[in-house]
Parts: sequence; structure tokens; C-alpha cells
Amino acid sequence: MAKIVAKKSLGQNFLQDDSVIENIVIQAGVNPDTDVLEIGPGLGAVTDLLVERARNVVAVEIDDRLYHNLVKKHGCRENFKIINADILETDLSEIVTDNMIVVANLPYYITTPIITKLVENPCGLKSLTVMVQLEVAKRICADHTQKDYGAISVFCNYHCDTELLFTVPPEAFDPIPKVTSAVMKLRFREEKAVTPKNEKQFFSVVKAAFSNRRKTLANCLMQSFSLSREEAVGLITSCGLSETVRGEKLSLLDFCNLSDRMCDRTN
Ligand code: SAM
Repeated sequence: MAKIVAKKSLGQNFLQDDSVIENIVIQAGVNPDTDVLEIGPGLGAVTDLLVERARNVVAVEIDDRLYHNLVKKHGCRENFKIINADILETDLSEIVTDNMIVVANLPYYITTPIITKLVENPCGLKSLTVMVQLEVAKRICADHTQKDYGAISVFCNYHCDTELLFTVPPEAFDPIPKVTSAVMKLRFREEKAVTPKNEKQFFSVVKAAFSNRRKTLANCLMQSFSLSREEAVGLITSCGLSETVRGEKLSLLDFCNLSDRMCDRTN
């Protein structure tokens, strides 16, 4: 078969480093009782190990050439199923089984939409062990004491316990990407990190707080919720926070308290 040339437009950087592949599969906790969803199996570098070690592997690959290549390679295995589709258009409820785990070297051009889709509606997924750009992993796994903390950190940490596991240098891929990568693990929480009275309100407050990093939280709240300065400052200080605090300094619990105060105010 002719060599498959990587398509940059589909984020194709194929893993070449066996120790990285082994480490991903170990950190994901793959064993003979595990069902795995692999997003973007590519040439099958990770897939080869997954089909050896997992109970079942379902792979979703958008590129027809890679799909046909993997059908040829592993199609006869009973524990392997490959779907030729866009993961963002795929109905997860039709393929995810209880406690299934995601293992993937994600296409970087759509990392955030994929993570958002999986975290928002896990359909029974237990964890995600995924390779992403290092910058993205830092943002997702950050807490309020770190400079990379933002709305995506709050969103992911609300639903999952997040952990940046290890970094991977560009040379581990072919073609070599311009950026450093990292593998992170998101374990879905049995209970959310905090329990706001109104989840929608909680995320509206988070969105408002990070809407302009140069502004204080009070200014962000005034603008997003049409509050007077007195009202915004009153809400903030009633949560034990300084009236000049910036959104990026608030923990998930602070956001929860603030959003609950706002709910109380409107009820
Ligand atoms: N898993 C392989 C590896 O580690 O070598 C390939 C990883 S490569 C970074 C990303 C893979 O995701 C490619 O195979 C690409 O074709 C696939 N892909 C890109 N966009 C996709 C989408 N929307 N849905 C499913 N797969 C996609």
C-alpha cells in the first residue's frame, strides 16, 4: 500500500515513540475489562496496543484513507470496531458503554470542541486520557492559584478531577509539530466539585468573570448582569472577597457562593 501522507488540515501528527504510547495506555488504566473509545486512531499506533490489552475498542476516524487502512489491519478482530465519522457529529450515546474510557491523541485544531462535548455529555464515560497541546493541558488542569486558570479550567474541574500527567516533545511525532504536547487525564466526578443552586447561573457568572481579564470582577459583573457598582460590590464582599478582586482569583467554591448570592437576589 502507498504511504499515507499526513493531512495537516485534519491535525494528523502520528505518534512514533513506543515509550510514549505505552505510557498513555498504562496511565489510561487499560486492562482486559476495559472498553475504550479512541478518537482519531490515525495509522493505529495507539490502537495496536489497545486492541491487545482492552476488552473492546471503538475507534472514530474521519479520514477515509485511515479508516480503510485500519479496517484492513484490525477489521477481523472481534474486539475492534471502527466508525468512519466526525467525532463532533457522532451521537455518543450510541457508542459509549458504561464506564468506557477515552484514549486519544487528539487532533489539535478541534481539541476544545471535542473536550467540551465529552465533558458536557459523557454518556457514562469514566475518564479521558488524552494528548493535547501543552498550553491547552495547562489551562484545563489549572486551579485559581495558577496563571493559566480560566473558564475552561472551571468547566472541566467542575465535572472532572483533572491531572496533567507528562509532556511529550515534538520529535515523538511524524510529521513533527511546532508545539510541545502533554497527556492529561480527566476522571469524571461522581458528584460535581461544587453544588450551585443553579448550574446555568454558575456558568454565566464564570463566563462574566473571565470576559475581560484586565477588569475587576465587579466591573465584569456590572457589565454582564447590568448591575450598579454598589450591587456588584455588595455581592462580592458578601462572599468574603475583596471588592477589587479579579475573576481569575476565584476558586470553584467562590464562584458557587457568588452565583448562589445572585440567585438569592433575583428570587
Ligand atoms: N492516534 C494517532 C496517533 O497517535 O498516531 C493519530 C493522532 S492525530 C494527532 C489525530 C487523528 O484524528 C488523525 O487520525 C485525524 O485524521 C483524526 N481526526 C481529525 N479530525 C477528526 C474528527 N473530527 N473526528 C474524528 N477523527 C478526526
